[in-house]
Amino acid sequence: MAKVNAVLGQISPDDLGLTLIHEHLALGYLGWECDALAPPYNREAAATTCVEALKEAKDYGMKTLVDATANDIGRDVEMQRAVSERLGINVICATGMYMEQHGKTGYLKFRGQMFDITTEVYETFMKEITQGIGDTGVRAGVIKVATGRGQISRYEESMLKAAARAQKETGVPIISHTEAGTMGPEQADLLISEGADPKRIAIGHIGGNANLQYHVSVLEKGVYIAFDRLGIDLLFPDTLRKACIIGLLGIGYANRIMLSQDYWPYWLGRPFEMPDSMQPLLANWSYGHVFKDIIPALKEAGVTDDKINTMMVDNPRRLFGGE
Ligand SMILES: [Zn+2]
Repeated sequence: MAKVNAVLGQISPDDLGLTLIHEHLALGYLGWECDALAPPYNREAAATTCVEALKEAKDYGMKTLVDATANDIGRDVEMQRAVSERLGINVICATGMYMEQHGKTGYLKFRGQMFDITTEVYETFMKEITQGIGDTGVRAGVIKVATGRGQISRYEESMLKAAARAQKETGVPIISHTEAGTMGPEQADLLISEGADPKRIAIGHIGGNANLQYHVSVLEKGVYIAFDRLGIDLLFPDTLRKACIIGLLGIGYANRIMLSQDYWPYWLGRPFEMPDSMQPLLANWSYGHVFKDIIPALKEAGVTDDKINTMMVDNPRRLFGGE
């Protein structure tokens, strides 16, 4: 039986329960620490903020949160562990690298002039999955990959190849970031051609468009898809995402779809001051939105409890190697 690396230790896929497959705790983009007006990172404040923000979802029965924060966008394993302990939920942390545009690419690009960075990054992923992250002893339970809008750059291709190799060797699943509803089929093709198991891949941010032909073309690769930016109407309207989910469930894809929000309550950098006009477009964005708004809307449209359970419990369990 497969074991899942959670931040407090290994668990069985059967222990995952109701799972949010793509969220963040703390998140920080490249260069935030160069902003003189950014408050310094405070682990204790971050943990407290995340615990508070997660309470609502926990009250709805959420048992596992997959933190999709890659190595280069503010991952803090000690903080993830504190949140898991204090809240009594499973947190699964990622090893992985973000897309070229917003990732920390300088080091690898420099080494890439002389060395094989695909292998070096594969070695990082393997170390973090099999031995742990830094000296924390916390092992990564998921591999995160990301590509930019409309193309997979050479750098990103290296990251995906490294991920596929580590997936193949360890069984640990891959979750992905796609940009603006592009490159889902290409990501799946590249990962699978490099040896990753399609049943251990979830192509993310699929609801960046409402193109059912695109969604089905990803599903036809044999992978999972995740509508994991629910509540971010700023990027794409939830109404259309819901219509797509209902349509895909209606034609038999319940066993391949997962729901999440890509939410983060603790931002590294100076605070966001969202203009008034934008605020309604993020009004529903929280860890609880799927449970509070999306699931009731799907039920209203005739989606059965069984199918909800398949998306929220069975699919994550199978992605992580369960029966
Ligand atoms: Zn994300």
